[in-house]
Amino acid sequence: MKNNPFSFARPPAGIPQDAGQGREHFRELDATELYCPNCGFAVPVNKFLLLVLPDGDRYEYRCKYCGTKVGDKVDRSGQFYGILKG
Ligand SMILES: [Zn+2]
Repeated sequence: MKNNPFSFARPPAGIPQDAGQGREHFRELDATELYCPNCGFAVPVNKFLLLVLPDGDRYEYRCKYCGTKVGDKVDRSGQFYGILKG
């Protein structure tokens, strides 16, 4: 990346970006688009934290347009609890 000849086109860090609130940059690395059965196509989703369990946090994905639940997942964080428990 450092030797990319096109990198000069990127604006340097530190430029104020107040106008956009940075929303374009807030992209989850996992599942950002899922098929919504109500809308009938792949939609951007909102991620909601449902439950915090000892072996992981349970999340739910909902359609950004109509709010229909389109998926869920459990984020395992067991290794941290394992360390804490000893
Ligand atoms: Zn939808």
